[in-house]
Amino acid sequence: MLMSIKFYNTLSRCKEEFSPIEEGKVGMYTCGPTVYDYAHIGNFRAYVFEDLLRRYLKYRGYQVYQVMNLTDVDDKTIAGAKREGIPLGEFTQRYIDAFFEDLDTLNIERAEVYPRATEHIGDMVNLVKRLIESGYAYEAKGSYYFRVSQFKDYGKLSHMKLRGLRVGARVSSDEYEKDEASDFALWKAWDPEDGDVFWDTDLGKGRPGWHIECSSMSMKYLGKHFDIHTGGVDNIFPHHENEIAQSEGATGVRFVNYWLHCEHLIVEGRKMSKSLGNYYTLRDILAKGYDPRAIRHLLLSTHYRQKLNFTFDGLEASQEAVERLRDFVANLKRLTGEGEMDVVERLTSRAREEFRQALDDDLNISEGWGALFRLVREVNKLISQGKMGGREGEIVLKVVRDFDRVLGVLREEEEEEIGKEELELIRKRDKARKEGNWELADRIREELLQRGITLEDRPEGTTYKVRRK
Ligand code: AMP
Ligand code: ZN
Repeated sequence: MLMSIKFYNTLSRCKEEFSPIEEGKVGMYTCGPTVYDYAHIGNFRAYVFEDLLRRYLKYRGYQVYQVMNLTDVDDKTIAGAKREGIPLGEFTQRYIDAFFEDLDTLNIERAEVYPRATEHIGDMVNLVKRLIESGYAYEAKGSYYFRVSQFKDYGKLSHMKLRGLRVGARVSSDEYEKDEASDFALWKAWDPEDGDVFWDTDLGKGRPGWHIECSSMSMKYLGKHFDIHTGGVDNIFPHHENEIAQSEGATGVRFVNYWLHCEHLIVEGRKMSKSLGNYYTLRDILAKGYDPRAIRHLLLSTHYRQKLNFTFDGLEASQEAVERLRDFVANLKRLTGEGEMDVVERLTSRAREEFRQALDDDLNISEGWGALFRLVREVNKLISQGKMGGREGEIVLKVVRDFDRVLGVLREEEEEEIGKEELELIRKRDKARKEGNWELADRIREELLQRGITLEDRPEGTTYKVRRK
C-alpha cells in the first residue's frame, strides 16, 4: 500500500498526514526576500528547503502551484534607495535580478508567481478596509492597526499567550499611536523619512505594513484557504501569527492547513544574519571557488527542522559527495556487456522504497541521501565484481536521475559536454593500453588533458573528469 506523506505542522506541533484541499494539487505560499541586498546563504537554506518540498511533492505526483512574494517596499529598501539617491524601483530591481540569478545558481526551481508588494497595493488596501468593517482594524494618526485582543485565536501558531505578549511587548522601530503594544501596523501613514515612497489611497497617504502584504498576496493567488505556508522559524512570530489574524479576521475561514518552518543556518552557534554581521552571501562563497552544487548539497544535508551549522569543512565534504555522485554517473554511462539484472533490480527497488519512505517522513533528507549513497556503494561493488553490464547501468542511472529530480545536485546537461570525438579517443586509448601501446596511450591522455579532460585508470576501468573553464 502506498503510504502518504507526513509533515510536521507548526500549528498542531505534530506530524500530520498530508491531504490537499483539492486532490492531486498543492497550493503553497513561501515568504520571499526583502530585496535591499544580496541574500545570504542562511536565507538560501530556507529557499532550498522550500525547493525540496516543492520538488518532492512533484516527485510524488502532485501538481504544485507555488507563490513567493518579493518585499520591495519596507524601511530597509526605502533607506537603501535614499542612500544611493535613486528611485526605489531601480534600487530593488538590482536585488531582484540578483535573487533570480542566485536561484538559478543553486538550481532552485522557479515558483509559479513572484508577486511584488508594490504591484499589489490596491489588494492590500481592500483587505485593510475589510478588517475595518469587521471591527479588527482601527485608525490612529493616519495609520491603521490590527487590534490583536479582538482576534480570539491570536497566538495559536506560535503557542504564545496574549497576556505574555502585552507584558514583554515587542515594540517595532516605526512605532506610532497604537492602543496596545502587541497591535501591529496594517498601513503606515506617510512619514517624511519615506520621501517620495507613498501611495495615495482610500486609507490616506502611506504604505502597507509587511504582514498585510503576505496575507493579501497569498489569498489573491491561492484563495482564502490553501494547503501549505512556509518560512524560517523566525517567521512564526510575529509575521505568520499576524498573517493568520489578518486573513482569518477578514474571511472568517481557516487560512492555511499546514505550516512548515525550517530551522536556521547557524555560524558558531548563532543564527546567520545581516544584523550580526556573521554572514556569507552566495557570491562570497562562489568567489572562493566552491561548486554551487556543493553549496546546494550542504544546505540540503540536514533535516530542515534541525539547525545547520555552516563550516567550510562541511562544504568540502559536500563537494566530495557531489563529485562522488558525478563520477558514479559517469561510470554507469560507460558500462557495456552483460550483467546480473536480477541483483540490480533488487537493489534499485529497495533504494526507491527507502528514498520514498525517508522523504515521506517529514522530508527526512539525511535518510534520503543515505538511500542514494548506499546504492552507490553497492553498485560500485557490483562493478568491481564485473556484475554490471550496459542494461544494468541504465537501470541504475534511471534511479539516480529520478532521485535527482528531488535533490538537484547532478549537472548532467553540462557534463554531457564531453563530445563523441573525445569519447572515441578514450576508447582508443583503452585499446592501446590493452595492447601495451603505452606511447599512444600517453599521447592520447595528454591530448585529452589539453581539452580539460582528466583520466584516471582504475582496476574496473578508466574514468574521466571534465574540468573546462
Ligand atoms: P528575510 O529576508 O530576513 O525576511 O528572510 C527571508 C527568509 O530567509 C525567511 O523565510 C527567513 O525565515 C529566512 N532566514 C533568514 N535567516 C535565516 C537563517 N540564518 N537560516 C535559515 N533561514 C533564514
Ligand atoms: Zn511573508
